[in-house]
Amino acid sequence: MNIHEYQGKSILKSFGVAIQEGIVAESPEVAVKAAKELQQQTGTNWWVVKAQIHAGGRGKGGGVKLAKSLDEVLEKATNIIGMQLVTPQTGPQGKKVSKVLIAQDVYYPGASPTKEFYMSVLLNRSTGRNIIMYSTEGGMDIEHVAETTPERIFKEEIDPKVGLQGFQARKIAFNLGLSGTAMKEMVKFVTALYKAYDTIDASLFEINPVLKTSDDKILAVDAKVNFDDNALFRHPDFAAMRDVLEEDPTELEASQHDLNYVKLDGNVGCMVNGAGLAMATMDIIKLAGGEPANFLDVGGTANAARVEQAFRIILKDANVKAILVNIFGGIVRCDRVAQGIVDAYKNIGSIPVPIIVRLQGTNAVEAKKIIDASGLKVFSAIQLKEAADLVQEVLKKK
Ligand code: GDP
Ligand code: MN
Repeated sequence: MNIHEYQGKSILKSFGVAIQEGIVAESPEVAVKAAKELQQQTGTNWWVVKAQIHAGGRGKGGGVKLAKSLDEVLEKATNIIGMQLVTPQTGPQGKKVSKVLIAQDVYYPGASPTKEFYMSVLLNRSTGRNIIMYSTEGGMDIEHVAETTPERIFKEEIDPKVGLQGFQARKIAFNLGLSGTAMKEMVKFVTALYKAYDTIDASLFEINPVLKTSDDKILAVDAKVNFDDNALFRHPDFAAMRDVLEEDPTELEASQHDLNYVKLDGNVGCMVNGAGLAMATMDIIKLAGGEPANFLDVGGTANAARVEQAFRIILKDANVKAILVNIFGGIVRCDRVAQGIVDAYKNIGSIPVPIIVRLQGTNAVEAKKIIDASGLKVFSAIQLKEAADLVQEVLKKK
């Protein structure tokens, strides 16, 4: 699960990570109020108005604007709230902005120049350990840095038995070219950041930029925080931060029914039990010359109600021209699933696309008989290859 920058920053702050302070606002009037409040809290006379959407690259897309007066806060907030913000990460249709973060300006001039760094915390799956990835090249696209100047990206791996060690935090600060106060501040920053990551069961922190201010403070200016969904049950307060407006409505509906659904761009809908079988089914659709319209794992209990819900979700996608149902009957019996399909078909009324059903495992033969006898526009196959070829055949006929 993904959350907004303002939520991520509030979590970081609660762990003692220094942040660029800000207040979230859902209207231009509240934005001005927030700006005044920040002025009292921090003494700032300049602000940044930052669009809150679940995508990066907001600066490039015009979703982050500096305001040098309260009038400008009003003007920029009015422009940004309600805009359809297109960034390199949103796709061409963009995302609608419903909130802005009014933040203190932290790029003010002073004794030493400001400097932007990159820092992320994530799991290195090949070693099974967390790493802190960091770079002197902050504020820009890290993929670009990795391509052009990979030597400027550093990685520090953390031993789970002992956690982040002091010498590691100092090494990070040193590699970032810091000394004196800024070095001490960076050591504190990294230590608190890692503690936060470890405690909240995050799957990714990406802070880009981490800023060294002109008076040698180290602050998180941006915060991308992703949670490990499998651990969210331990953190109901974070789970409540979910912003359903940021999610694909069909994927959201599927998750409410405990169905694992991911929309794709093809025209063959798939309904499968088990993620591995779902992946294999998508492969075989491609091998047969088709393109999967989705990934959908109905899970271990493929009963009639779930099958019906899954059909309804697949059919929301107007690109779907055929549906391939591929269920392996292990614990679940194929004849029950077949009956479920027939019942679902009747409940939904008219399903406008052909359905190809491949049921394999316990009672597969009985299942095929139920499908064949149903008189519905449902084709049955026992071999997966047979099923995929059937899909192609019905698509060609259309
Ligand atoms: P992103 O574009 O979605 O990654 O959003 P960021 O939160 O990283 O902000 C984008 C850029 O806005 C940063 O890289 C900074 O250059 C700029 N920015 C953010 N905060 C301030 C600020 O307080 N003052 C000024 N002048 N620029 C800022
Ligand atoms: Mn950023």
